Amino acid sequence: MGAINYSALSSAELNGLYLELQGRFDEYKNRKLSLDMSRGKPCSEQLDLSLGMLDAIGSNDSLKTKDGSDSRNYGGLDGIAEAKELFAKILEVSMNEIIIGGNSSLALMHDTISRAMVHGLYSSKAPWGKLPVVKFLCPSPGYDRHFAICELFGIEMIPVEMLPDGPNMDQVERFVREDAGVRGIWCVPKYSNPDGITYSDEVVDRLASMETKAEDFTIFWDDAYTVHHLTDNPDRLKNMLAACKAAGNPDRVLIFSSTSKISFSGSGISVMAGSENNLNYFRKQLAVQSIGPDKINQLRHVRFFKDTDHIKAHMEKHAAIIKPKFDTVFSILEAGLSGRQIAEWNKPNGGYFISLNTLDGCAREVVSMASEAGVTLTKAGATFPYGKDPRNRNIRIAPTFPTPAELKTAIEILCLCVQLVSIRKLLA
Ligand code: PLP
Repeated sequence: MGAINYSALSSAELNGLYLELQGRFDEYKNRKLSLDMSRGKPCSEQLDLSLGMLDAIGSNDSLKTKDGSDSRNYGGLDGIAEAKELFAKILEVSMNEIIIGGNSSLALMHDTISRAMVHGLYSSKAPWGKLPVVKFLCPSPGYDRHFAICELFGIEMIPVEMLPDGPNMDQVERFVREDAGVRGIWCVPKYSNPDGITYSDEVVDRLASMETKAEDFTIFWDDAYTVHHLTDNPDRLKNMLAACKAAGNPDRVLIFSSTSKISFSGSGISVMAGSENNLNYFRKQLAVQSIGPDKINQLRHVRFFKDTDHIKAHMEKHAAIIKPKFDTVFSILEAGLSGRQIAEWNKPNGGYFISLNTLDGCAREVVSMASEAGVTLTKAGATFPYGKDPRNRNIRIAPTFPTPAELKTAIEILCLCVQLVSIRKLLA
């Protein structure tokens, strides 16, 4: 049967189709598969692209940094100059507006919230932990680990609708203008997780200039996928720090990023950028926490990547490996679901995810049915605060890690599950 709108079918036709699809699903089930599609991890071929980094510094090489200091020793609290220079260029900030962190930007975000709770941020009148309530705006669907940080620290999450060019700014502006409890917003502004959306210039400007009731309202700008393009015509994101400065709110944004999906996910380097006021405030706290970061890893990254042109070329190699995987997902979704009026999905120009929306009320059942056939997907609801997708329809697809053959099977099973669950809903 071709791509027929399911809601135009009679009950008898739907029942017939259901039996046919159920037969196909049972065949997959009998294969006792075990396919994990749950997290956006690079595959081993991608990790192999950076193996040369392990040879970028040998025991005979100089371990001195550009300013003559010894990378093996203590010191260099906010990163070596050459690493700051390279990543400042990528994030379009100055050398004084960047700190190089350890292997995880999520850890930097977690620690920033933790410090805000205990000490407050640079612009705070009081530590957040002393306030009657702290709330964060959470454009949703969004990144589950941002939401987990809020849950850990007892920060109340307010979901905000995602539109094709970023969060619904009418909602955002109203919340921050009216409610002093709203202290921050999580943003993945480029190739967002999971929708693959890049914020428009207008959204960037409105976030930078909006009136906020809280004096220390902060934008957590998680630019995790800033160089992770999948096409030759990449999205462009307006510089948020520059927009905040232009709007007279230079201390409003903290920018985070990392090389987790550029070099090695477990052994990359992370960065935090923001106004000098903000970063000097954090530098003082960092000086108590550590006598210096892993500068050998920073040096290794700079010697391997050299400059932004080399990073661009390196990311093209990543894209050559993962773009065909994204295309596999698109063609199977197209063949299995398009025209039936039972699902919609995005086609991002970069990033790590495809966001699939089923009919309302179907996502949980689809994910659980797929797991019966051995396909582990990200938990339904995970892309929303408190794990509660109000329409129970969003499923995050992470195509990078599985082999092409595993991916094909997993998405075919996913499509069957969406079809079966949708038919059950239409027949109910
Ligand atoms: N931010 C976003 C939006 C992500 O999707 C991820 C990983 O999936 C991370 C941060 C994690 O970054 P890191 O490995 O630097 O902690």
